[in-house]
Amino acid sequence: MIESTPRVGSAAEIAEELRRRSAFVMVSHVKPDGDTLGAGLALGLALKKLGKRVHYFQQDAVPRNLRFLPDSQFVARELPGDLPPDALFVFGDMSDMGRAGEHLPKLDRANVLDIDHHLGNALFGAYNFVLPDECSTGTVVMHLLRELGTDVDRDIATCILTTIMTDTGGFMHSNTTPEVLELSADLMRRGANKEEITEEIFLNKRVAATKLLGKIVDEMEFGHDGRYCYSYVDDGMLRETGADGEDTEDTVNTLRGQDGVEVAALFKAYDGEIRVSLRSNGRVNVQAAAKTLGGGGHFRASGLTWNGSLSDGIVAVERALVAEGL
Ligand code: 5GP
Ligand code: MN
Repeated sequence: MIESTPRVGSAAEIAEELRRRSAFVMVSHVKPDGDTLGAGLALGLALKKLGKRVHYFQQDAVPRNLRFLPDSQFVARELPGDLPPDALFVFGDMSDMGRAGEHLPKLDRANVLDIDHHLGNALFGAYNFVLPDECSTGTVVMHLLRELGTDVDRDIATCILTTIMTDTGGFMHSNTTPEVLELSADLMRRGANKEEITEEIFLNKRVAATKLLGKIVDEMEFGHDGRYCYSYVDDGMLRETGADGEDTEDTVNTLRGQDGVEVAALFKAYDGEIRVSLRSNGRVNVQAAAKTLGGGGHFRASGLTWNGSLSDGIVAVERALVAEGL
């Protein structure tokens, strides 16, 4: 049943809908990370165990550091031609549908399920399962797996632990609660290889990425008595180092990690657009700041696309952060 006022369903209601459908398309967001992809793969693997037909859609290629994930070889940017009309499109880890990109056909809302943990999720599906207190979309999916009675095997455990480690920054961020650690321990007992995930996601840096980080660090600017740090990446820096967009993934954390820095911004001005990553130590709400500029995310980690020049973007972002108490 489609609600006139969008609302968050219970795990039981969503699981019932999953049982009712026969075919699924798991959708990940553009510039995919371990949470959007791991959550979709985990639920996809579970649905396959129930005998369902499952496809994975993602506009961008699977990043190099996520190709170890089970089933990631089946992720495609094309949809099969013979999908049944009631195939359910499951959007994972996005606060609005636009985050999936422009390559999906127009969907009937009745066939949209929104699974997420972002603040301010637009509840864009006919079915919405959004739990903002969860550390990752993967742990939101865990609620559904429990409801479905899925046997969490090694592959599913690997996907879910990847979502947790991605979104807790390897168990460092404040969303690493005792419950998250307990669940992670259980996933390890089920065969998830924490060492492999750590290696793939956090350690395995290409030399080009490290050189790029050096350039970003060279360009750091500080303001607000050292509480604010920003820098940028442009096409020239990528060309000179041989790095690409994937290599910028967590460099903003280096900026935030400088002594005394409460808020960091990285302006990614390449490939014809300017993407901005914001990080906070927890005092300033960077989700609210990003939202005023058309983006979104979490209290401590958010992003947006800036339409305009880099210098105007730097001014606008700082102004939005100041409005949030920077
Ligand atoms: P990142 O800086 O890693 O790209 O993004 C940090 C967080 O902000 C992620 O949770 C991501 O989903 C969210 N985010 C990044 N860009 C956007 C955007 O353009 N719109 C919205 N709504 N959220 C974003
Ligand atoms: Mn997430």
